[in-house]
Amino acid sequence: MPTTRQGLATRLIHTAEGAQPHAAPLTTPIYETTTFLFDSTADLQAYIDGSTGKYLYSRYDNPSTHALEAKLAEAEQAEAAMVFGSGMGAIASTMLGLLSAGDEVLCSAAIYGGTFHLLQSFLPRFGITARLLELDALRDPTAAIGPRTKLVWFESPINPTLRCLDIARLAGACRAASVRSVMDNTFATPYNQQPLTLGVDLVMHSVTKYLNGHSDVTAGAVMGARTLVDALLPARKLIGAMLDPAAASLVGRGLKTLEVRMERHNANALALARAFDGDRRLTRVLYPGLPSHPDHGIAAAQMRGFGGMVTIELPGGLEAAGRFFDRIEVFKRATSLGGVESLAGLPVLTSQYGWTDEQLARADVTPGMVRLSVGIETLEDLIADVDQALK
Ligand SMILES: *Cc1c(COP(=O)(O)O)cnc(C)c1O
Repeated sequence: MPTTRQGLATRLIHTAEGAQPHAAPLTTPIYETTTFLFDSTADLQAYIDGSTGKYLYSRYDNPSTHALEAKLAEAEQAEAAMVFGSGMGAIASTMLGLLSAGDEVLCSAAIYGGTFHLLQSFLPRFGITARLLELDALRDPTAAIGPRTKLVWFESPINPTLRCLDIARLAGACRAASVRSVMDNTFATPYNQQPLTLGVDLVMHSVTKYLNGHSDVTAGAVMGARTLVDALLPARKLIGAMLDPAAASLVGRGLKTLEVRMERHNANALALARAFDGDRRLTRVLYPGLPSHPDHGIAAAQMRGFGGMVTIELPGGLEAAGRFFDRIEVFKRATSLGGVESLAGLPVLTSQYGWTDEQLARADVTPGMVRLSVGIETLEDLIADVDQALK
């Protein structure tokens, strides 16, 4: 400690910084710091040797992101979880963490657009290729697995048709062939379905959606066995796909209400789907919770609830869907999903934009579809809104 009085700038910068709080806060504080203090060379050496619970630098690890990882692991009954700055950060880090040039990924032809583009046009530049399978071929991928296949990547329910895959069957086939399985569980959430308990190796989430739940944070996560999750750490560090501590704190708050939000999302979506199932103004209502859905049996066997996503199809193509879209009021016209606010989207102008007629037909996506992310508002208001927009 210098005995002479320090300058104002020095005092304002250093006074109280790095002080260990003796308070015991109920909630996890936001560790808004890029770097962490060491007492001595020995202290730093201990960090390097991995023998202390200390932190070095927030791109690597931070107490706020660490606390969130503990909650996320809990959500999926996983040994470990890793957070990322976005769902795509999680997907890219998983692919780059687990794969090398020459490896092949099998995945469904109907898959999140970002995942599709990453596999189709980005990773091939680095020698990682993908083979896209029709839904029925992916149900048991055994025949499709080749000598270069290292990973099978899939979703269930799938956007926007909400088709479902038998998770245990798919995971079992991968395990038997010594191929890793990774499932994007964003649409279902761990409240409705826990793929790790069904034999999947890794679960991935766009935390941006239901896990945060309030449409104000972009984040991603991967959960699974410790050794497998740890294998993604170099990718997260070196790509820089880390989540910010303030964002981590918001997600941690969102997760506290995951159960109560999902109960309401499930109930509102099911009631809305039932209210319009068979409505003469619609050609189809797609919701895994309806007996009319082609995968209702699979969904009922593996899901606790059927989630908050409902897709309706209007006769009259994009013109009719567009009219509905322009008239809707409580539902907001916006892409994304999984927040407390109800949102409406037009798949052919968003997730399936630019697809050929043949690609659309194979994915069973039509211009008359409107995708609804059913929020947690009062049910009667949501039903009345869809009803008035159909008039
Ligand atoms: C949104 C989404 C992603 C991508 O997540 P971001 O947080 O936007 O990067 C991946 N998979 C699914 C199913 C999604 O809905």
